[in-house]
Amino acid sequence: MVLDDLGSSLRGTLDKLRGQSRISEEDVDEVVKEIQRSLLQADVDVSLVMDLSDSIKERALEEEPPGGTTARDHVLRIVYEELVGLVGDSTNLPLEEQTIMLAGLQGSGKTTSAAKMAWWFSKKGLRPAVIQTDTFRPGAYDQAKQMTERAEVDFYGDPDEDDPVKIARDGLEATSDADVQIVDTAGRHALEDDLIDEIEDIEAEVQPDRSLLVLDAAIGQGAKDQARQFEDSVGIDGVVISKLDGTAKGGGALTAVNETGSTIAFLGTGETVQDIERFEPDGFISRLLGMGDLKQLTERVERAMEETGDEEEDWDPEDMLKGEFTLKDMRQQMNALNNMGPLSQVMDMIPGMGGGMMDQLPDDAMDVTQDRMRQFEVVMDSMTEEELENPRSVGASQIRRVAKGAGVSEETVRELLEQHKMMARTMKQFQGMGDGDMQRMMKKMGG
Ligand code: GDP
Repeated sequence: MVLDDLGSSLRGTLDKLRGQSRISEEDVDEVVKEIQRSLLQADVDVSLVMDLSDSIKERALEEEPPGGTTARDHVLRIVYEELVGLVGDSTNLPLEEQTIMLAGLQGSGKTTSAAKMAWWFSKKGLRPAVIQTDTFRPGAYDQAKQMTERAEVDFYGDPDEDDPVKIARDGLEATSDADVQIVDTAGRHALEDDLIDEIEDIEAEVQPDRSLLVLDAAIGQGAKDQARQFEDSVGIDGVVISKLDGTAKGGGALTAVNETGSTIAFLGTGETVQDIERFEPDGFISRLLGMGDLKQLTERVERAMEETGDEEEDWDPEDMLKGEFTLKDMRQQMNALNNMGPLSQVMDMIPGMGGGMMDQLPDDAMDVTQDRMRQFEVVMDSMTEEELENPRSVGASQIRRVAKGAGVSEETVRELLEQHKMMARTMKQFQGMGDGDMQRMMKKMGG
């Protein structure tokens, strides 16, 4: 996937800054070189890469690191912010009634993305329908029909009609019960005039609330011209980058998004209807910088849960992702993690939590040794239900009481509360990561 190896190479370079409190120009140069190499290899446009490196260099040397941060944290934060800036915001996509038109070259992944998006909207509780107006590509009708069946969403197409505008009109009417109408259009191998004419005609008929351009992650620098032309003819509200699961680098698509001032709406990560992710810049970059081995982690979690045995029945990891992360959640987490080995190693395997991201946290944030966990257990046993549910409410007098009850120092109780705060913050980051792997993993953790 795009910039895949940026995380590891950058981490190596940043590790050299460990223990330093000031950063030299040479250090910054080295970091910037790594980033340039990675971005250029991933097909990001040269001038964009240069702008980004200048900006990182300038900020790293001129901005005063906030008190207590190391040189490494300082640089990492700037790199992170600049990369988030590079990929831009996520396309605004309210969960409400709307019509979405998909445009793109043939083979870019439009039909697949239409079905995937419909599936995604249906999981959000809306009723979507896909309207297939591609009369140019043989097989587009069957493909859309099959995929929408798999996604269990409404579908309209007419294999006997060769006027796409008429299909669009009839389709909108036939699926008027749907909340979200997704209109798939034809592509060509190149941007021929008749393609542009056709899509403009469909657009005039459909009057979509949003037009999304589907770009193949493998597209390279050609993406820029494509994006500009579509932007000029129908206007682009957002981009879907497809096929990010392959060896494709995605940098061309990123450049196109950046140059046309557009945003990314979805990422396509496979051939089945579920292989779609809503694009979230923070989560995306976090993962990039610390891509972990999710599969390995999941296996470990499974093993750990087998060993942990009984869990508290009322504990639902989904709730934890949605709402407040309580001390009870933390206890469950600690139990599960305890069985998996050193926490730092486990965290390294979670996308977005590996190396880079973890180093943004204060040094001792994840330093939960087994002994400390046992101590925390004892402390939690001395807390009331209300305190466990609502750790923020625990004040000085309660800390005194709990410390006494647990036979530990007040400092230990404070440390527990501090640890909880850190983890709650971390959970907030998970919440930004979309519905995919993370939630499945948390579910497994919860058993
Ligand atoms: P269209 O011509 O733009 O409608 O493109 P299609 O939706 O037919 O996609 C072209 C090919 O790319 C098909 O073989 C799809 O299965 C494949 N494809 C689309 N999206 C993805 C993706 O995210 N990952 C992978 N691996 N293949 C994809």
